[in-house]
Amino acid sequence: MVVGAGMVGAACALYAARAGLDVILVDRGPLAGGTTGAGEGNLLVSDKEPGPELRLALKSATLWGELAQELGTAVEYEPKGGLVVASTPASLTALTDLAAAQRTAGVTTVRVPADQLHELEPHLADGLAGGVLYPQDAQVMPTLAAAHLVRASGARLETGRTVTRVLRDTAGAVRGVRTDRGDILAPAVVNAAGTWGAEVAALAGVRLPVLPRRGFVLVTEPLPRRVRHKVYTADYVDDVASDSAALKTSPVVEGTAAGPVLIGASRERVGFDRSFSLPVVRALAAGATRLFPFLEHVRAMRAYLGFRPCLPDRLPAVGPDPRVPGLFHACGHEGAGIGLATGTGHLIAQTLTGRDPELDLTPFRPDRFPEEAAPWIP
Ligand SMILES: Cc1cc2nc3c(=O)[nH]c(=O)nc-3n(C[C@H](O)[C@H](O)[C@H](O)COP(=O)(O)OP(=O)(O)OC[C@H]3O[C@@H](n4cnc5c(N)ncnc54)[C@H](O)[C@@H]3O)c2cc1C
Repeated sequence: MVVGAGMVGAACALYAARAGLDVILVDRGPLAGGTTGAGEGNLLVSDKEPGPELRLALKSATLWGELAQELGTAVEYEPKGGLVVASTPASLTALTDLAAAQRTAGVTTVRVPADQLHELEPHLADGLAGGVLYPQDAQVMPTLAAAHLVRASGARLETGRTVTRVLRDTAGAVRGVRTDRGDILAPAVVNAAGTWGAEVAALAGVRLPVLPRRGFVLVTEPLPRRVRHKVYTADYVDDVASDSAALKTSPVVEGTAAGPVLIGASRERVGFDRSFSLPVVRALAAGATRLFPFLEHVRAMRAYLGFRPCLPDRLPAVGPDPRVPGLFHACGHEGAGIGLATGTGHLIAQTLTGRDPELDLTPFRPDRFPEEAAPWIP
């Protein structure tokens, strides 16, 4: 069974079902009512440095491409590519160095000289130093994608049902979950509870230090398509990689099928504070306007926020928990859980069925953080 019907739980359900397992997906709220319904749908390889997360992103990108062929336009998959731009010669050097390293790790990158940026993005600001195009970057609509993956999985979906304990036998192995509406017995439990992954881990008696990292997204009024790619500055990569609690606001600007331009997304550690922050939204708007000056004359319709599930080393927890037989984790994907969902679900299905995972799961081990004593109740 899978706890959490967000993008990651939906992908776990799909690939587990396709591996031949009976799957129950349980969520205390509606489908995609957590961070999946409160973020954006960028499927990015461009913002990842070479390493385990990039390997997972590349695998996930391939799987998203396959799913898009199967599900058609239903999930609003758009393989539009990402354009990362540099405003100074120094940041262009850093960007092209990163792109060179990414290329050796399997990413397709295309250097874009300053005088060719407007061919790709006619409304981009003047005076930028150059950029790199990443054709593998794509986009989906996360809520639709989660819903369609669950439907395609054929899994039993139980919404409005809260998991209150992970049941374990006298030997400590998982035997199901207790919910506010009765027990569900299952030999394996996948913790796909996103930002609440620490709570679900604790229900099984183990520590997994997932913390929220707040992000705002600004949504403009609908416009004819003027932003063709996902466009962001090279500073964004530093913001994503940073583990600082302080506010980071370098924007990613993208057009959507429905017309509004999405300007995302800030990053800050303020717990689960849901209050609106004008300074944050103002900083996003200012950054986006610097990239696309025409946005100055466009009205913002609304802003919304969500809480990214963040582990201390900024890698997700994916795979079996050696501390509790039958417990698996698929959470903590920070600002990349939509993009990384497919690869995560695929790897979880492989481990659930006793196969060797296609990628090395060592960097994603859920027990890689210092342990604190946590009692468990059989
Ligand atoms: C502003 C913003 C922008 C973002 N942009 C992007 C982007 O462009 N690309 C990208 O890849 N990622 C992006 N992200 C990150 C992405 O949204 C998350 O990484 C992803 O949604 C996490 O999905 P999930 O399924 O792990 O968690 P969630 O969607 O939060 O799902 C977890 C579910 O678990 C359920 N749950 C928790 N506890 C229990 C319990 N005890 N019992 C039952 N159910 C429980 C919750 O109700 C919830 O529905 C963004 C995030 C934010 C906030």
